[in-house]
Formats: sequence, C-alpha cells, structure tokens
Amino acid sequence: MSVAAAEEIDALRDSVNRFMESEVNPFMNDIEKSGEFPRGLVKKAGDLGFYGAVFPESVGGSAMGYVAAATVSEELARNDVRFAACNNQQGSTCPQCIYMAGTKEQVMKYVPPLLAGETIGMMSLTEAGGGSDALGAMKTTATRDGDVYRLNGSKMWASMANETDVGILLAKTDPDAGAKGVSAFIVEPKKYPGFEARPIEMHGLSKALRTNAVFLDDFVVPVENRLGEEGDGFKIVMRALQPGRVTVAAKALGVARACYEDAVQYANERVLRGQPIGRFQMIQSEIAEMAVAIEASRSLVYEVARLMDADQPSNRMAAIAKYHASQTAKLCADKAQQIFGGYGLALEYRVSWLKSYADLFFTGEGTANVQKIVIAEDALGYKVADRHHGRTGLRDPAKDDIAAEA
Ligand SMILES: Cc1cc2nc3c(=O)[nH]c(=O)nc-3n(C[C@H](O)[C@H](O)[C@H](O)COP(=O)(O)OP(=O)(O)OC[C@H]3O[C@@H](n4cnc5c(N)ncnc54)[C@H](O)[C@@H]3O)c2cc1C
Repeated sequence: MSVAAAEEIDALRDSVNRFMESEVNPFMNDIEKSGEFPRGLVKKAGDLGFYGAVFPESVGGSAMGYVAAATVSEELARNDVRFAACNNQQGSTCPQCIYMAGTKEQVMKYVPPLLAGETIGMMSLTEAGGGSDALGAMKTTATRDGDVYRLNGSKMWASMANETDVGILLAKTDPDAGAKGVSAFIVEPKKYPGFEARPIEMHGLSKALRTNAVFLDDFVVPVENRLGEEGDGFKIVMRALQPGRVTVAAKALGVARACYEDAVQYANERVLRGQPIGRFQMIQSEIAEMAVAIEASRSLVYEVARLMDADQPSNRMAAIAKYHASQTAKLCADKAQQIFGGYGLALEYRVSWLKSYADLFFTGEGTANVQKIVIAEDALGYKVADRHHGRTGLRDPAKDDIAAEA
C-alpha cells in the first residue's frame, strides 16, 4: 500500500479547495435553505476521490493513506463543514466496517459505490439510552427468521439515515451475551420495509445533511447482509471508529481554521476609534491564542495520521488528537465570536453557527470525557490504549487488498 508523498498531498489539498470554492461554497447557503441533500455534489466529491484515500484501487480508492484522508477532511471542513457532514459515512466508518469484515462479494458490491458517492452511507451504533455506553444502552434486537433477520427497536443520532442507501446498523442477536451478543448488518432502507428515519431539529447544524432518530419495525435484513459472524458486531464497529476519530479531529481542525481565518480578516477590516480592531492588543491576544492552538492541533492530527500510515500503534494518540482538536475548535469558535462582537451572533456570518460544529466534534465519535478516560487509564496503567493493535483479526483497507486475496 503506497503512502502519498508531500507533493501528492499538496495537490490533493489544492483539488479539495478548488472543488469547494467553485462547486460548493457559493451554493451551500441555498442548499441549506432548500433543505435538500446535495447528492450531485457528493457524487462529484466521490468522482474526485475525496472519500477513497485509505482504500485500495481495486475497490475504487486511491491508496493514498490517512494523511491524505485527514487532509481532505480538514479542507472540506475549513471551506464548509456542513458539506463535510457525510464524510465519515462515505469514506470512513461505513465502508471501513464492510471492508474490514465483509465477504469479498459484500466488499465489491457495497464499498465502490460508497467511495464514488453513488450511494449514501450511514453508521448507526448509538441508541437513546446513551452513546458513551453504546453496548449497555443497546436494546434493538435482530431475530433470525429463515433467510432474513427482523430488526426491532430504535436508534438515535443516525446521521444521513433519512437519505441512506447502504448503512451499517448494530443490533443484538443475543441480548444476554454482552459484547458478544451484538451483530453488525449492512442495511438497505430503501429496499426493505420497516425502517423509518425522522430528522432531528438541531441548533446551528445543517438542514440538508441531517442526523436522525430511526425506528425499526420488523425491518428486514437478508442473512447474506450480516457482517462477519453473529456476535462480531461490536468488535467490528469499535475498530472502524478509530480511523473515524482521526478524520473527525481533522474536521475540528478545519473548523478552527475557518474561525481563525474569518476572525483575522474581520479584525483587519473592522475599524473602531480610527483603526482596525486588530491593532488592539486584547484582540491580538485572542488571535495569537487561536494560532498557537491550531498549530498544536495540526501537529497532533497529522502525527496520528502518520502513525496509522506506518501501521504503528495510534489509539492513544488518536484520543489525544481528537480531544485537543475539538477543544481547539471550541476555543477558536468562541474567540471568533468575541472578535465579531454582535455580528458574531448574526446568521449572515458563519462564525455564528461554526460553534455548533465545534460542540458536535467535542461530543461525536467519542466524547471529550471518553477520550480523557482512554488517555488517563493508559497513563495510570489501568488499560493500555493500544492493547488491540495488530490483533483485531480484521482486514485493514490501508494495508490489505482484498482483490489480491486468494
Ligand atoms: C449531530 C450528531 C450526529 C451524530 N451522528 C452519529 C452517527 O451517525 N452514528 C452514531 O452511531 N452516533 C452518532 N452520534 C452520537 C454520538 O456519537 C453520541 O452523541 C456520543 O457518543 C455521546 O452520546 P450521548 O449524546 O448519548 O451522551 P452520553 O453518553 O449520555 O454522555 C453524557 C455526558 O456524560 C459524559 N460521560 C459519559 N460516560 C462518562 C464517564 N465514564 N465518566 C465521565 N463522564 C462520562 C459524556 O462525556 C457526556 O459529557 C451523533 C451525535 C450528534 C449530536
């Protein structure tokens, strides 16, 4: 598996920026007003290879690696984080689960269209009873009925579920068996009855790329769509969330940069008492603190991506990077709002809603407290964060090529 060189990464960064500046940024406010999911743009992003960085070419990826994936996430989010909301469903968690645990038929059928942006993905783990205790909270059941499973229950916060063609959904096949009672399913809500997604009204988040409550009423999943064996589900999803954490950290970095860039521009343009407010030392202090936090986050995010590209243990560093980058996004969103004064609360300026995304990255894909628990338990010797490295027994898209398997 090749790892992209610096010039290739620069070219990729330019390509994301060109695409966003010409095809997305000018239209995103209108898309938000319409509330329509931008399928055409997701397809274009797929055609440009933005979702396939860590997958081999045989399934439609570019095999460029995690530094490339982080670069795409950072720049998409810096340009317009609302459009980046489906990034992980298209290029990370959802296709990763299928690639890591699927049969060759499942991989070849479902992964290439997701990476191409032709089908819309979903990763539905969380239930209403608590995201940080996904296992303890899981009540949804999957009961075998001949050639199909029937799924009953409800899921919470399933992003893109109202649009999804192909998703991963976790349910209990044996409610008394703890983690070993959870199975993962490739679900196709448009093809089979019993799946209802209800978008949740969110403060400051996209109205076109949405998160949902999902209700399952004898929802049909063919047995051939089970991922791995019964009971493998929790292991599969935990492994797939780790690379997702790096791209979420990169998105948080992108949001921090968007806040910083807008604040610098505003501080140079806003004139008070006869001079740009950037001349005031207290405004300079805010800008300096933002710059320092962003550079530290950037180092952490790309260090994790490099560790992953080198197949080194990276779980502890991913927790550190995700924690730091989401803190940085919150800090920068807060400071940018202060620099904008009252205008920082007006919808006309994106700093008014970027704060909501900073808050989301603080919570989604493992809350800040959960990251701190991983870091501290490792430090205290209670639980080694990288204990599963190289021992999952699952395929890794960044290392293996299923097409080459015997
Ligand atoms: C917009 C959005 C999109 C999302 N998209 C998806 C998706 O596509 N798929 C999906 O499966 N999920 C998704 N999620 C769910 C997300 O991953 C969860 O919100 C997250 O895991 C936290 O779960 P919770 O909201 O139930 O909070 P809880 O787990 O109830 O946590 C509440 C608080 O308690 C703290 N806490 C929890 N455990 C401990 C502890 N041991 N010690 C100290 N503090 C603790 C948490 O840090 C948090 O501050 C999404 C969420 C949002 C808001």
